[in-house]
Parts: sequence; structure tokens; C-alpha cells
Amino acid sequence: MNPTPSESQPIETQVLDGLALANEIRAELGESVAKLVAEGHRAPCLAVILVGDDPASRSYIKGKQRACARIGMDSVEHMLPASTSQDELLELIAQLNADDAVDGILVQLPLPASISPAAVAEAVDPAKDADALHPTTSGRLLAGTADLISCTPLGIMAVLDHYEIPLEGANAVVIGRSNIVGKPVSLLLQQRNATVSMCHSRTRDLADVCRQADILVAAAGQPRMVKGDWIKPGAAVIDVGVSEVDGKLVGDVDFEAAQGRAALITPSRRGVGPMTITMLLRNTLLAYRTRKGL
Ligand code: NAD
Repeated sequence: MNPTPSESQPIETQVLDGLALANEIRAELGESVAKLVAEGHRAPCLAVILVGDDPASRSYIKGKQRACARIGMDSVEHMLPASTSQDELLELIAQLNADDAVDGILVQLPLPASISPAAVAEAVDPAKDADALHPTTSGRLLAGTADLISCTPLGIMAVLDHYEIPLEGANAVVIGRSNIVGKPVSLLLQQRNATVSMCHSRTRDLADVCRQADILVAAAGQPRMVKGDWIKPGAAVIDVGVSEVDGKLVGDVDFEAAQGRAALITPSRRGVGPMTITMLLRNTLLAYRTRKGL
């Protein structure tokens, strides 16, 4: 795919089917799990913890557990009341760290205000850090030695690779600098030799910066903030943002305005989301293999 056609060329925008790509990768992961089980090993196991009863978080957890089951991976859930103290949560994490039958641990965010997400991230054994939020895991990403990598950034890289988007020397613009999306995806793009601008809420002339992007990753959580004329003709646009507007899920990019301008765009539904869950499965399998030497 040529990422930089001239303004005058008509551009047919390819819309990613994130679910189809996710299913392809999940089928491969499922084959690996089946092979391990056929060899007499137990299936890998992901432990998921939810504190409180936020309906969206509950539905994310269910989706993750269903995805595990579909590839033959075990999962155990720990549903804790919103009144759970930080010490109680850390105690549960310590038990799961010590449990040899658990390979990956995921604590669903957001947490109640009384619990520090940083303390929780640090409590998870880096060897079981399926969500890749422990500072040791992020440090390894910084050093370029990570095997467990944040799920959404890893999913984004898989999309770019699937569509053979050239990364070397490309101008990549990332909107957002969170620990979960913006920072790690910027590092991954830079490690693949893209020239990366990591933008945020204080970036000046954001529209102009975006217009330089061969690859534009929008992860600000601001509905439709990226306008059509911010998109360089032929760019690959990865819309990570998910917001609800009038009961409808919308991304950070004005999807309609991107048509005929972007060469590739991910939709807000069936886009990056299924890839994120897929990379959680990937990380859990990898953590299992590494711990067991398989
Ligand atoms: P966050 O709130 O932690 O970070 C948002 C970042 O965007 C911040 O760095 C902030 O500086 C920047 N930002 C905010 N407003 C901006 C503006 N007007 N201009 C430029 N930068 C701005 O959010 P997050 O956890 O990184 O998530 C970002 C979005 O991605 C959210 O909508 C979230 O729901 C979505 N998300 C989706 C998936 C998925 O799998 N689809 C996964 C994670 C996050």
C-alpha cells in the first residue's frame, strides 16, 4: 500500500474488520493451546479481578472470559464488592501470584477511587503480567527487551503489520500519552523505525501535526476530534478512542470524513477492541510458556 498518494488521486478507504483479524490470530493461539494440551500439559489460565459492579467493566470481563474459553484457555473470575479495600485486593493478587495454576492476572480498570491503580499494577508478579502494566514490564518495553507488551498497542502493531503499512522512516503521530495506549504504542512505532510525535492535550497546532502523519493513532477519548482535513491523503488511521455519544459508540476520528482520504481506518466497533482482547490471550499464553519453559 502506498501511504502517500497525492491530493488529486482518488483514495479507496479500506475499513479494518478487527474481529475477522482477531479471529484469525485467535485460531492460531487456539491451535497452540490444543497442541500443549495434547502433549499432556494443562491449559493456560487467566485470572480476572473486578472490583465493584460497573456494567461496562462487567461486560468487558465477560468478553475476555468468553475469548479465553473459545481458544481452550481457562479463566477464573474474582468479583469483589466496591467496598473492597486496597489491602484486601493486594492480598488476593498475592495469592494469585503464588498460585501455580494461574498464568496471567488482569485487574479490570477503572478501580474505585480508594484503590491506587499504580499500587495494584506493582503488586502483580511481572511473570504473570498479562495486561503489561507493571513498571518492570514497561521498563522492559523502554529497553526494547519486553515479551509481555500492553494489549492495545500490541493489537495496533498487529493491524499495521497485517496491512503491510510501511513503518520504517514513516511519520507516525500518536494522540494521547497514557501508560496504557499512547506511550507504549509510541515506543513500539519508534522501535520499528518510525519517526514518532506523541501529542497530548497541550500540543500546539495538533491539526497541523496530524497532517504530517503517514500513520495516525488517535487515543485521546475525545469523540470525533480528528477532522477529515487533519488526515494526510493515504494515511493509515488507527482510531482507538471509544466514547458514547447519544447512546452510540463513536471514535476519536470523524469516520465519515475520513472516507476517501485515509487509505486504511479502524472503525470504533469491531476495530481495535477485538485486537486488544486477542493480545491479552497472546500475553497469557506467552506468560504460561515462559514460566513453564514450554
Ligand atoms: P487517558 O484518558 O488515560 O489518556 C488520554 C490522553 O489523550 C491523554 O494523554 C491526554 O493528554 C490526551 N488528550 C485528551 N484530550 C486531548 C485533546 N483534546 N487533544 C490532544 N490530546 C488529548 O485515555 P486512554 O486510557 O489512553 O484511552 C484513550 C481512549 O482509548 C479512550 O476513549 C478509551 O476508551 C480508548 N481505549 C480503547 C481501547 C480498545 O481496546 N479499543 C483500549 C484502551 C483505551
